[in-house]
Amino acid sequence: MKTIPILMYHQVDVVPPSGTPLRNLTVSPASFDWQMRCLKAWGFHGLSMRDLEPYLRGELNARVVGITFDDGYVNTHENALPILMKYGFTATCYAVSHQIGGHNFWDVPAGMAQKPLMDAPAWRHWAQLGMDVGSHTCDHIDLNQADEPVAKQQIEQSKTELEQMLGLPVRHFCYPYGRFLPQHWEWVAQAGYASATTTQRGRVHTSPEMNAYALPRVLVNHRTTWAHLGMKLLTAYEDNR
Ligand SMILES: [Zn+2]
Repeated sequence: MKTIPILMYHQVDVVPPSGTPLRNLTVSPASFDWQMRCLKAWGFHGLSMRDLEPYLRGELNARVVGITFDDGYVNTHENALPILMKYGFTATCYAVSHQIGGHNFWDVPAGMAQKPLMDAPAWRHWAQLGMDVGSHTCDHIDLNQADEPVAKQQIEQSKTELEQMLGLPVRHFCYPYGRFLPQHWEWVAQAGYASATTTQRGRVHTSPEMNAYALPRVLVNHRTTWAHLGMKLLTAYEDNR
């Protein structure tokens, strides 16, 4: 059994003032840079979900960490991409297929600032540079609140739409709000995805019994110190939270 951490990021941008809702979901470009530098210094290779596949299946063995971004912010493209390239890492960014060039309307009721999402040329550029694109449904819906046909359609159609936009396979899924039920595992698998990530905290413990459609992740935020990051990646610190 191997342990693989998958890092979860949302925005790489100026961190909003304290008291701002969902502030935890933003890291500054400088913090992101040193977090990637730490990974490199500790001998980790940062990989997209696509590049992580053989490690998750136990076919390859090395010190690897998954890097994921939810929602597809313009700031992921502008601020995180050059840093990933600098360290020779890849990452998966999960797109909302009906909000290409749109914004994060689902966060606004919670009091978060409206932020632009990547348009089609930005997504293609992201993919051309070796980064991976995953699906985060068509409309960022809460799957637990949706009827079966709607949930299935959101899972399947987003894959088709993103594949058409990119001309590339879309093999990885991420549950909006981290909300899912056991039947969603099945539907995501039936739609042809190879994995699905959640917001459950922890590192992935690979084994033949591992559920590739409910992978936990490690949240990194603006308060994460290097010692804290090391603990999250190298110890069981995250696993029982
Ligand atoms: Zn999201």
